[in-house]
Amino acid sequence: MKYSQKALNISASPTLAIDSLAKKLKEAGENVIGFGAGEPDFDTPDNIKYAAVSAIVKGYTKYTPVAGINCLKEAIAKYYKENYAVDYSPDEVVVSNGAKHSLMNVFFALLNDGDEVLLPSPYWVTYPELIKLAGGKVVVVPTTKEKNYKITVSDIERYATSKTKALVLNSPSNPTGMVYTYDELKQIVEFCIEREIFVISDEIYDKLIYDGKKHISAASISEKAKEFVIVVNGVSKSYAMTGWRIGYTLSNKELAKIMSNLQSHTTSNPNSIAQYAAYEALVGPQDSVKKMICEFEKRRDLIYSLVNDTKFLSALKPEGAFYIWVDISDTIGKSFEGKLIDSANTFAKLLLEVEKVAVVPSEGFGMENHIRLSYATSEKNIREGVERIKRFVEKLT
Ligand code: PLP
Repeated sequence: MKYSQKALNISASPTLAIDSLAKKLKEAGENVIGFGAGEPDFDTPDNIKYAAVSAIVKGYTKYTPVAGINCLKEAIAKYYKENYAVDYSPDEVVVSNGAKHSLMNVFFALLNDGDEVLLPSPYWVTYPELIKLAGGKVVVVPTTKEKNYKITVSDIERYATSKTKALVLNSPSNPTGMVYTYDELKQIVEFCIEREIFVISDEIYDKLIYDGKKHISAASISEKAKEFVIVVNGVSKSYAMTGWRIGYTLSNKELAKIMSNLQSHTTSNPNSIAQYAAYEALVGPQDSVKKMICEFEKRRDLIYSLVNDTKFLSALKPEGAFYIWVDISDTIGKSFEGKLIDSANTFAKLLLEVEKVAVVPSEGFGMENHIRLSYATSEKNIREGVERIKRFVEKLT
């Protein structure tokens, strides 16, 4: 075989087709409204930017310890202690080049060939590809709208085998915006610990949670959680720092060491300057985060009511992150000017062609008949974009 089978097994990003079509249309001068963004549309707060400038001026521009500078690891441990009442020491923290990189470290450190990973769907598009790359087998655990797109212990019981090594949880969820309650999480985590199944808890949207609710960390569920729970988080979403590339894991010491060894031969330390910026993000003033949450909550309310006011569309109210997961089942089988809507993919393509609105179809997230809309865009765009979607669906016959 000419190229690596492992690499060939990786699918292209499912958002790419729509994205490149949207870009082409924009370049051609079309007025495209994009609901595809996976990042806050806010600027990185000034105090964080200045911390980076100061790091450069002070000459913090050399290699750092592989798993991150000590003050940042301490700040991460403190953040989890203060926010979620869990105890981690700095040597249980591994700082990486974004949460995506942290997830890669986790899968490579945990999986042997053929190990099964339970992945509730809809899932974030990157999980299955990383699991496959690391030699694991993806076992999709489907959820339903009726159960708020969440899994329960009975789902795990149904899909777990003797080869099950880990479960991926993502709360608040990309793409559904759903959040697990303490009780739901407790049942799942305790069940997994009993069966010695690792819980990979992607908490990247922990701060972006609405209605006065508070994120629950899977690591806070029980004393024993630390042995089997691996927390993945980062500064990308909560501090509008997607381009800085700082993510991290919290795990038991043994696994942290393995991931650090892995990282020492792949990327070495994450960017030194970005680490100082991330430190400031965690220990500096938090008012910009609060403002961002307030703004996202307003937009969430707006998009939720506009979408549910639209013929054939319905969505549950997102509780966190900045996405709304819209059920378009009632449009499937209908036609737009003679063109049959047979899938979310076709719906998204036609919507972009006809009304110049870019949305992400659900197939890449492991579910049919939904579209994901990101509300990390202005209120004006939300109003205009949903208006166009309305116009589109009203023409379906
Ligand atoms: N996990 C989830 C659920 C995400 O949605 C994303 C980004 O879209 C990431 C992880 C990756 O975050 P980072 O930019 O820190 O790599």
